[in-house]
Amino acid sequence: MFERTADLRHSNDELSRAVHAKDQFLATMSHELRTPLTAILGLSEILSGKRPGPLTDLQQRYIGIISDSGNQLLALINDILDIAQIESQGMELEPDWIQVEDICQASLTLVRPAAEKKGQHIAFKRDPKTETVWADKIRLKQILVNLMGNAVKFTQDGGTIGLDVQGKQEDNSIEFTVWDTGCGIATEDLERLFKPFVQLDDTFSRQHEGTGLGLNLVYRLTELHGGSIWVESEVGHGSRFMVRLIWNRDAQVQAEPSTQESSNLPAPDAPPPRTGSATVLMAEDNELNLIILSEFLIGQSFEILSARNGVEAVQMASNTHPDIILMDIQMPEMDGLEATRRIRAMPHLASVPIIALTALVMPGDKERCIEAGTNSYLSKPVNLSQLSKEMTSLLNKHASA
Ligand code: MN
Repeated sequence: MFERTADLRHSNDELSRAVHAKDQFLATMSHELRTPLTAILGLSEILSGKRPGPLTDLQQRYIGIISDSGNQLLALINDILDIAQIESQGMELEPDWIQVEDICQASLTLVRPAAEKKGQHIAFKRDPKTETVWADKIRLKQILVNLMGNAVKFTQDGGTIGLDVQGKQEDNSIEFTVWDTGCGIATEDLERLFKPFVQLDDTFSRQHEGTGLGLNLVYRLTELHGGSIWVESEVGHGSRFMVRLIWNRDAQVQAEPSTQESSNLPAPDAPPPRTGSATVLMAEDNELNLIILSEFLIGQSFEILSARNGVEAVQMASNTHPDIILMDIQMPEMDGLEATRRIRAMPHLASVPIIALTALVMPGDKERCIEAGTNSYLSKPVNLSQLSKEMTSLLNKHASA
C-alpha cells in the first residue's frame, strides 16, 4: 500500500516536471518568435508607406501578403502563449463587476472592421435585465471577439452574424450566444472543435485561414470563469456558440440554501432529506468554482475535502474514502475522466457516487463521463439546487445499496 503510494507520487512528480518543461519551452519560444516578427511587420508597413519611394502594384501586393501572413503568425503566437500560461501556472483572472453593454460594444467595435470588409451585418440583442456580470473584462472580451471573429470568417460576403445576451434568473446564469449564417459544422466534427491544433482539414476549412487554437482558448477562458460552452450547428445554415457564465456570484451562493429551506413540502418525486453528515471530495482546479461550491456545501452541512487536479483527487479519494465525489473534467496533470477510471479501479471506491461537472458540453460528452464511471453529469455554472438534489439522491441510493 505505502509502496504503491510512493510509486504513484514518484511518477506524478516526473509527469509534472515534464509538463512544466513543455510549457516553459512554449512560453520561451513564443517570446523569441515575436522579436523577428516585429521586424517583418514593421518593415512591411514602412515599405508600403511613402518614404522608401514608389512601388509597382505587384510589389505592393506582395508586401500585403507578407504583412497579412505576419499578422496571422502573431495571432497564433499570442494564442500559444495564452494557452501555455493557462496550462503552466494557471492564468489568474481578475474578475470584477462588468457592464454587459460596455463589454459587448467594445467587442463589436473590434470585430466590425472585418465584417464591413466582407459587407456583413452584425445584429446585437441584449436582454435589458443583464446589466452586470462578474467576469474578467479582458478575458471575456477575448472570448467574444474570438467567437465573433470566427463568425465573420465562416460567413459569406454580405451575410449576417449576431451576438445575443440572455439572463437566466432561475439558475443565475448569463448566456452569450454568437451566431452566424455560415457554412455550419458537421456533427462528427463538433467534438474535435475545441481541441488545440485541430482545424477541420477538408477543402472547406483550408480556404479559411486560422490557427486552430482560437476555440481551445475560448474554452479554456470560459472554464477559468467557471462557465461552460457548447455549440449547435447545421451544415449550410450556420452555427450558434453559447457561453454560459455565472451571472451574479453572491446571489448564487446566498439564494440557494434559503429556497431549499422554504420548500417545506417536497415535490412527490423529491428524494427524502439527507440525514447525518457526509464528506464530499471536490476535484476542481478553478478557484472561483471551489469557493462557490464549498460555501454552498458547507451551508448544506457537508464536510469538504478539495483536490486541485486529478492526481490529487485519486490520492485523496484513496486515503480518505469520501461519501461522494464532485469531479471537474478539465484539470491539469490528470483530467477528471482518467481520475474517475482510477478511482473506480480501487475496490473500496468502486461504488462511491461521482458527479462529473463539465465546462465543455459536446455531443457524446455525457456518454464519455458515464463510460469512465461517473454516476451523473452536470454542466457549469452548476445550478446549485439541482446539484443538491442530485447529491442527496445518489447518497441515499448508495446508503440503501
Ligand atoms: Mn477545470
